[in-house]
Amino acid sequence: MRRLVLASAFVATAALALLGCQQSKGPAAVDAARLTAADSDPGNWMSQGRTYSEQRFSPLDKINTGNAGNLGLAWSYELATNRGVETTPIVVDGVMYVTSSWSLVYALNAKTGQPLWKYDPQVPRETGFKACCDVVNRGVAVWKGRVYVATLDGRLVALDARTGQPVWSVVTVDQSKPYTITMAPRIIRGKVMVGNSGSEYGVRGYMSAYDTDSGKLIWRFYTVPGDPSKGFENKAMEMAAKTWTGDWWKYGGGGSPWDPVSYDPESNLLYFGTGNGLPWDQKTRSPGGGDNLFLSSIIAVDADTGAYKWHYQTTPGESWDFDSTQTLTLADLTIDGQPRKVIMQANKNGYLYVIDRLTGKLISARNFVPVTWAKGVDPATGRPIEIGDPRYTKAPATIFPSSFGAHNWQPMAFSPKTGFVYVPAQEIPGAYGTDDKFAFDPGQWNTAVDTKLNSLPPDPKARAAMKNSMRGELIAWDPVAGKEVWRAENKGPWNGGVLTTAGGLVFQGTADGHLNAYDAANGKRVWSSETYTATLAGPMTYTVDGEQYVAVGAGFGSVFYLVAGFAAPKQGNPDNGRILVYKLGGAAHLPPPNLTKIEMPQPPPATASPKLVATGHQAYNHYCLVCHGYNAISGGVIPDLRYSPLIGNQEAFDSVVLGGARKDQGMVSFARVLKAEDTQAIRAYIISEANGAYAEEHAPAAKGLGK
Ligand code: CA
Repeated sequence: MRRLVLASAFVATAALALLGCQQSKGPAAVDAARLTAADSDPGNWMSQGRTYSEQRFSPLDKINTGNAGNLGLAWSYELATNRGVETTPIVVDGVMYVTSSWSLVYALNAKTGQPLWKYDPQVPRETGFKACCDVVNRGVAVWKGRVYVATLDGRLVALDARTGQPVWSVVTVDQSKPYTITMAPRIIRGKVMVGNSGSEYGVRGYMSAYDTDSGKLIWRFYTVPGDPSKGFENKAMEMAAKTWTGDWWKYGGGGSPWDPVSYDPESNLLYFGTGNGLPWDQKTRSPGGGDNLFLSSIIAVDADTGAYKWHYQTTPGESWDFDSTQTLTLADLTIDGQPRKVIMQANKNGYLYVIDRLTGKLISARNFVPVTWAKGVDPATGRPIEIGDPRYTKAPATIFPSSFGAHNWQPMAFSPKTGFVYVPAQEIPGAYGTDDKFAFDPGQWNTAVDTKLNSLPPDPKARAAMKNSMRGELIAWDPVAGKEVWRAENKGPWNGGVLTTAGGLVFQGTADGHLNAYDAANGKRVWSSETYTATLAGPMTYTVDGEQYVAVGAGFGSVFYLVAGFAAPKQGNPDNGRILVYKLGGAAHLPPPNLTKIEMPQPPPATASPKLVATGHQAYNHYCLVCHGYNAISGGVIPDLRYSPLIGNQEAFDSVVLGGARKDQGMVSFARVLKAEDTQAIRAYIISEANGAYAEEHAPAAKGLGK
């Protein structure tokens, strides 16, 4: 008996020692060997797309098509902020690292959701004014006991994974310029890679690599050339400058690489995509035309040095906000009987590209949704074949897709088991025309495109028709055959990113507040759960103690609901975002939403002249639209101006718009660019829209649109 007790004690001690040994490894113990071998460690999800290939495929199969119907909530965690949630959780050894809007970082127990620490970088709220697309953040990178986050105001911060305390912090942008960062950094061989956003406002884009230990800058690759009179940083910039005309550098040029990064360890090539031109209208940006490298391109550089290797420009002479910043997925495919190492992207411009990732040569490009600006991509040149006058040279043009993209930041996935990519696709038209009154104003919305063209028609039926013309669908696409395999219709555009698994499943959240699971082979929906709020982020999956979990970030926000509030599926000020985690047999209860309908107060009488209202419309679209939405219809991300008591009183209105009384909530003073006569016109326009909406709401048999 005594021997037995002793033996048990020994086993217990040994177990403790083993546990101690594992713990001494510490949290976020990820290194190059571990990341490269991520496929043999499928219970952890150690980087954004799980592996360097960014396939967002998990080899886990305990949750599968046979049992997914039994999924239930394991736990949920309420984030501290109520703007958009675009984070993909990272899970390493039982700890989850996520971000919320305003670049907050959280470490959670991945089994229970218990918080371990929280880091708030205290982003000044007026930074929100520089952000085109909500104050979102897409997640962290982890490396050797540290957690790395890029903040909205352009810092890169290394945190101690045990405590969440900063170890170092560097400013990666000129903070006097309208740069922001929303992307998750990526770590490759001891370097942390981060790009930036701001190509609607007045920046020159670049990708940087910092030393993970010290925060020292190792290399920087500009995506567009600067002022030629100052010389070029490298041969690539010299080459790129030959494709521009005019004084583009005075605007900044754009091309910000604001989201995806992938990496091929074999060739040591790092891939990233670049954003649109600044301004959008090429006639203003580069009056003599040209391709304007490296706008709207996929770029490969040496991961160690940042030296240019190749580029593929998806949209030469970009004029529509067709960023090339969608997921860059690496895969090995057999095409025409040959093994090919490819990089794939379902581009904003409507084409799904399959490219040789070693050479940058096009293999195929097919449209995955209806495209009206081009009739195809020339396989010989790799260039789109434009049709009609999509560059709005003679008259405004309405085309599919629009600046919202046929596919945007919501990540797509690739399953090596089915061989299909799964694309969160959408069909939203966009009207483009030159803004004849354009004058560059650094820090403002500088697209040189007349935004009034996308304002809603006054007639409620026409408005409803416009809303109903927008579609969203999850598309399974065979990249070898270049064709659609199946599609699942969503209830409108702007739905969630995608995860696919060896359990034969595809997970996608939706704008209308669901997380769905489909059979990856045929698109049959096998499970659906209500999340009560827009669920747009990329889902992921992991294990703790042998049990498989599926996690997703949910939270109302992001650019579509800011700009196109009329098309938002839900109204009312949003609740805080949440991390939702599911497992087989999960039974936790998700708190019900707090979406009480806010009655529209009777607006002040619309007494202003039509001329003043028209002037106000113009100014509103230039200065207010990007956050407050077309026709002053808020999607509920930020307060709806038509409901605001401020519109009842010019003095109160000006105290905010000119006086900056709410700058701590992100509403900066516009005194630099607006005068009292402008704000009177803007207020008159909002009152006019409010009266229209109020009348519609109170009309007999009203079918409310927007509110
Ligand atoms: Ca853009």
